[in-house]
Amino acid sequence: MMKSVNPVTGESFQNYEIFSEKGVEKIINSVDKSWHSWRKTSFFHRSQMMQNLASLLKSKKEELARLMAHEMGKVLHEGIAEIEKCAWVCEYYAENAESFLENEIIDSDFSSSYVSYQPIGTILAVMPWNFPFWQVFRFAAPTVMAGNTAVLKHASNVPGCALAIEDLFREAGFPENVFRTLLIGSKQVESVIKHHAIKAVSLTGSTPAGKSVASVAGSVMKKCVLELGGSDPYLILEDADLVSAAKTCATGRLVNAGQSCIGAKRFIVTETVYPEFLEYFTQEMMKAEYGDPCEPEITMGPLARIDLRDELHRQVTDSVKMGAEVIIGGEKPNMKGAFYPPTILENVNPGMPAYDEELFGPVASVIRVKNETEAIRVANDSVFGLGAAVFTRDLKKGERIAETQLQAGCCFVNDFVKSDPRIPFGGIKESGFGRELSSHGIKEFMNVKTVAVK
Ligand code: NAP
Repeated sequence: MMKSVNPVTGESFQNYEIFSEKGVEKIINSVDKSWHSWRKTSFFHRSQMMQNLASLLKSKKEELARLMAHEMGKVLHEGIAEIEKCAWVCEYYAENAESFLENEIIDSDFSSSYVSYQPIGTILAVMPWNFPFWQVFRFAAPTVMAGNTAVLKHASNVPGCALAIEDLFREAGFPENVFRTLLIGSKQVESVIKHHAIKAVSLTGSTPAGKSVASVAGSVMKKCVLELGGSDPYLILEDADLVSAAKTCATGRLVNAGQSCIGAKRFIVTETVYPEFLEYFTQEMMKAEYGDPCEPEITMGPLARIDLRDELHRQVTDSVKMGAEVIIGGEKPNMKGAFYPPTILENVNPGMPAYDEELFGPVASVIRVKNETEAIRVANDSVFGLGAAVFTRDLKKGERIAETQLQAGCCFVNDFVKSDPRIPFGGIKESGFGRELSSHGIKEFMNVKTVAVK
């Protein structure tokens, strides 16, 4: 049985039957069958449905935000913004898919030679709970617009969101089996990847899950795109605008109660500005009001599950035992639910969970460094390489560091890292490989076919 549990109360409010092996088989076969006709439809036809989907999302944004608040604790205004962003990615690919996938003519010795982007079939998406709609839509909009079909295995704590997404596709007018949800646990993923009709897999989730899915996909020679964990470094250089940097860093750390892969996680500050930055940053972090995500004055909800909150607290207490110091927070609040306060740790050093691991919650690790060179070294001293940001008034220097020095897939100057349909998104190192969004994302699950005519 899969359960929706409200992280505010710890109580389950809905149960769902897990799909049987036979049920899963039947759905995958139907989606595969549907692909043979879907792939022949025109971009115009697909884009009309995608636009319907965007309108539907906008019309249901309050209801869907409430569903997220109940299943994983996201505050309502963030939930509404997430649904609006899903509508945006649908519109973006409705408008641009055809031009992104136009044939590319190549000059050669043949009378004609070109690349044609052909859909490959049914793609499996394995998705996390932290942005239950956005993660799925940023995969689904390009995939379906490209003429592929999709099955979704969503995280086990958001089955209501998983089924709502399937319903949205249906209601928008897509054929029944272009996009389907499978309510299955992670143990059933291996057999789905190995199913002959599944042609590739996209996983957004933790690095261990990514390694497991990649090894199964590799064993049957199927492509995968992996969007995994991160421990994004934010470099505060001595010429940074500290007031604005502190505000941006706190926002980047606390979005979605700190449960974002591209959340700001390690703040690497040069020593001349360290005390001042820490003071401003502490003030900003303390502004967060945490509590029931459905209350309008609340800016930060609970974590998505009690076990995740307890694991985060363990990482904090282990780091403190090893010498880290708590500036604010660091205690489990004396209240029901998966709440955790905004927390700042300093004196964070290698070997501590707060330095080496991903902290998936509202906990900031602040690290003092001598200068820019050491800041870059510490930033890159991580197994992860998803996002990174650098704060400086010298834009040329900021760009140079972002472009050539930081080992990450998405490097920003004077802003927190965010995803945008127009900009490619993805990581390096243990943060994964492949790209989502933009023209790059839509080409991941295509046959880049060479056609040459003598
Ligand atoms: P997770 O535990 O890895 O779960 C993600 C998805 O993978 C869920 O559907 C989960 O199913 C499934 N899964 C877990 N272990 C699996 C396995 N061995 N084989 C097959 N499937 C498996 O991650 P999460 O706690 O939901 O999400 C948080 C993590 O996701 C963080 O590390 C975060 O940084 C990362 N993330 C990355 C991005 C990005 O774009 N790079 C975006 C968002 C989140 P069950 O729920 O049934 O276990």
